[in-house]
Amino acid sequence: MALVPILAALLLSSVGTVSVAVPPAPAPLVVPEPPRSGAPPATTWLVERHPGWEQFSNGLRIETNLAVRTQPRLYRPLSQNPAPGAPLGFRTEPAGIVFHASEGPLASFEPEQTGLLKRQGLGLLAYARRHRLYHYVVDRFGRVHRLVEETDVADHAGQSVWADADAVYVNLNTSFLGVAFEARTSPGAETTLSSAQIHSGKVLTEMLRHRYGIPAENCVTHAQVSVNPLNFRIGYHSDWARELPFSALGLPDNYLQPPPSVYLFGFAYERAFFEAAGASLRAGLLRSEEEVRQAAAARSLSPARWRAELNHRYRQAVSQVKTERAALEKLAAREELHP
Ligand SMILES: [Zn+2]
Repeated sequence: MALVPILAALLLSSVGTVSVAVPPAPAPLVVPEPPRSGAPPATTWLVERHPGWEQFSNGLRIETNLAVRTQPRLYRPLSQNPAPGAPLGFRTEPAGIVFHASEGPLASFEPEQTGLLKRQGLGLLAYARRHRLYHYVVDRFGRVHRLVEETDVADHAGQSVWADADAVYVNLNTSFLGVAFEARTSPGAETTLSSAQIHSGKVLTEMLRHRYGIPAENCVTHAQVSVNPLNFRIGYHSDWARELPFSALGLPDNYLQPPPSVYLFGFAYERAFFEAAGASLRAGLLRSEEEVRQAAAARSLSPARWRAELNHRYRQAVSQVKTERAALEKLAAREELHP
């Protein structure tokens, strides 16, 4: 399916001019400074492509036999200031990476368990591929498997929110890549990443950041972005609420970033989520709460009243994203009927 005609049609369609009736804000929201981004990713390039695998200059090898196509990535982020709302231009390249944990059963990592380790890995790959869950899975032995093509959408992030200095992203399946480690991070579980997984995660992140110009602050965990709109709580999915080794992946400690779902859209969190979070994410959560308090005070509103306004903005943003998505799918279907 060609994207260009769809883009052109969209730009001409009324969908492209949908406006969001955002209540006027007295002052721009103050977006906290992200942690220092550190050095940009090293230049990384494809060295060889063969049926079944690709080799990159930084040592990354990707197994490609399982990769499938879904729908091409096409999305419009929302503008950041003075309030999240106005749609920006269409984009086809990923804006960030969401890291996941598979949270399935894990045999102990020792030679006697090799058979079971392999069976568990194959089971995960089959399940994740069938459901188009992630772009990449890094198995216990550090092998990187592409399950969904990078150009396409994977069903990894569900209801979710993130933002950077330029844009707000709502429901990240269409805008972020999904990278899953075969690992467990649920409360009570012993978080285990093998050194091979950490190394592969680092070179994979480096390649993807270099290829798409992804800023370091847009490489975050599912727990940081996941929201539940039914009760306006964050952390509906809580994988990697703690202990993702950001530094070993060549990234700053992005847990320290205040979740945009809280300070832009008024989401709250359960005590249990706060307690399950690591120290850095707790600091990020407290900073986001403080942002809400300060913004409410600047408007002479109670935090609860301000949160309600932010919740309203979220509903408008989601409705806008859904309208555009539906229009895109309609256009894509028309395109397939009349190529
Ligand atoms: Zn996840």
